[in-house]
Amino acid sequence: MPRTVHIIGAGLAGLSAAVRLATPGNRVVVHEATAFAGGRCRSYHDASVGMTIDNGNHLLLSGNHAALDFLRAIGSRHRLIGPPAAEFPFFDLKNNKRWTLRFNAGRLPLWMFDSGRRVPGTRARDYLAVARLLWPKPDTTVGEIIACNGALYSALIEPLLLAALNIDPPHGSAKLAAAVIRETLAAGGRACRPLIARDGLAPTLIEPALDYLRGRGALIRLEHQLRTMRFEGQRVAALDFGDENVALDAADAVILTVPPYAAASLLEGLTVPNEFRAIVNAHFRIEPPAAQPPILGVINAVTQWIFAFPGRLSVTVSAGDALLDTPREQLARTIWAEVAQAAMLPAELASVLPPWQIVRERRATFAATPAQDKRRPGARTAWRNLLLAGDWTNTGLPATIEGAIRSGNRAAEFVSEQ
Ligand SMILES: Cc1cc2nc3c(=O)[nH]c(=O)nc-3n(C[C@H](O)[C@H](O)[C@H](O)COP(=O)(O)OP(=O)(O)OC[C@H]3O[C@@H](n4cnc5c(N)ncnc54)[C@H](O)[C@@H]3O)c2cc1C
Repeated sequence: MPRTVHIIGAGLAGLSAAVRLATPGNRVVVHEATAFAGGRCRSYHDASVGMTIDNGNHLLLSGNHAALDFLRAIGSRHRLIGPPAAEFPFFDLKNNKRWTLRFNAGRLPLWMFDSGRRVPGTRARDYLAVARLLWPKPDTTVGEIIACNGALYSALIEPLLLAALNIDPPHGSAKLAAAVIRETLAAGGRACRPLIARDGLAPTLIEPALDYLRGRGALIRLEHQLRTMRFEGQRVAALDFGDENVALDAADAVILTVPPYAAASLLEGLTVPNEFRAIVNAHFRIEPPAAQPPILGVINAVTQWIFAFPGRLSVTVSAGDALLDTPREQLARTIWAEVAQAAMLPAELASVLPPWQIVRERRATFAATPAQDKRRPGARTAWRNLLLAGDWTNTGLPATIEGAIRSGNRAAEFVSEQ
């Protein structure tokens, strides 16, 4: 008789674990508290802009191998699009300067020695700062290892680490920064091609996963929130969903992939990250100009990245906690003025705020400080049939899609070994 694996949470950690386990011999049931799958990586119809948008722009890189394997498994790798080479156009709002970082494909960072490819105003030897970040002492912050100022910092290190760690880089864990640099800049341009889900997160990452799972007999139970667990000896014996109690057989397993605060309330005594950082996204309904690149880095502005989608320009501000209390329209107007300048919109378009939406995710990720990183638990728990997954578990990476998927894969492997 197949064992049942209960996966709690239908974010990317839960879905990736489910995809790995949806094989003969396992009966997979995914329980999701809300009415939709995807968690922090979702699409929804927004009445203000009159179109389906993502809760936040998500950037993947060609070196995110677990994420790409997941997409291949569910048949939607082709939905991620990006340029053929690792190129990142940038715009400086203060002086209207534009440049493009062009990484060469191989591991040897030849681009650092080419003034036409590296950050304007920097010298090759400035890039030793990047190398210094690769081998940090334990428990150090980025700010304790490199000087967080100057052209290289503001035009490369800060945008990269803000996006990847979602924290003001000087306070970020140097260990997590090193992991990011090792898997991106140090891995060469082949690992750094930017990839986006042009048609939306749900049609790319979530719906194909649900179709894949349903096609293999997995059960997806939405609006099915786990309330408590009953433990017996060294195992979980039953799951309580309020209206339903599910008893577990001896071979059954549970993978808990809920956010850290939810995991802590379900598992007494579990140490989890308990500080968070926000991400703010602004969406504007407007057809991007023909020359607008799919992703544009912006410095010296509130705006950090501008994403061009069909019929929409979207802005991401990582570590956006300072913007949480700014009145929504004021924020939309500030960001729109920056977008209009960066996209070189004609005055008649720039002067009119198009339909807009501001999405503020307060607890977008755990705060990637050394102290919070230490609070991340591994996949195994004190209970033999209970595993943990989620971007906040100890993946060695900051809270990202890649980390979430690796954590789901790892938990699935432990279940398979049992
Ligand atoms: C605005 C924004 C922008 C981002 N940008 C990027 C980016 O550019 N690149 C990148 O790699 N990452 C990005 N991230 C991070 C990425 O979205 C996350 O790392 C990833 O989605 C986390 O997946 P998860 O499965 O670990 O957690 P979640 O997505 O939080 O999933 C947990 C699920 O558990 C459910 N749940 C909670 N409690 C219960 C319960 N008791 N019973 C059942 N279900 C429950 C929740 O409803 C949720 O669906 C971004 C995040 C945000 C918010």
